[in-house]
Amino acid sequence: MNIYGHVKKAIYELENHIFNLQEVDNICVLEGIKKSWEYLQKYIKNIYPEFTKFFQENIEKLEVNEILITKDMIEEAHTTFKRMKKERIDVKIFMQRYIWVINVLLIFNKPFEESCDMCQGHLFYYYNETHVIKICRTCSMSFMLNGEVISPKNLSSNLRPAKKNELLKVL
Ligand SMILES: [Zn+2]
Repeated sequence: MNIYGHVKKAIYELENHIFNLQEVDNICVLEGIKKSWEYLQKYIKNIYPEFTKFFQENIEKLEVNEILITKDMIEEAHTTFKRMKKERIDVKIFMQRYIWVINVLLIFNKPFEESCDMCQGHLFYYYNETHVIKICRTCSMSFMLNGEVISPKNLSSNLRPAKKNELLKVL
């Protein structure tokens, strides 16, 4: 199978497990991501090695009870997914959109409720040693939940996406 065959399969897995469902189902979301990843990982490894590392360290090992997915996150990812389906010709853009879909689904965010104070970019929730914080995808600024800016030197080297139990304590 060539790259376009793999892309087609990946789209099928995402559609079938995630975007054709009426209800949010974490088991299906995780399954759709992991199955689609099997078709795309060898291409992404070359184009986006950093994301591949992130995927292997954070997403491959994720358990269903560790993720918090909202309807808004599914809706935001679905918008990108629809664009992604039309983008099969340009593999690089397709993979960018695919990475965005994974991020939006698995790193907690509130797409229609909040955005970065500095640049209006998308905020994702991470865990910084002892606290849940928000990081802007566009300008990389980090914020405490009360909006206070965090200096980059106070960011842990173990920074990782926040998990469900950590989020539920503070949301
Ligand atoms: Zn920003």
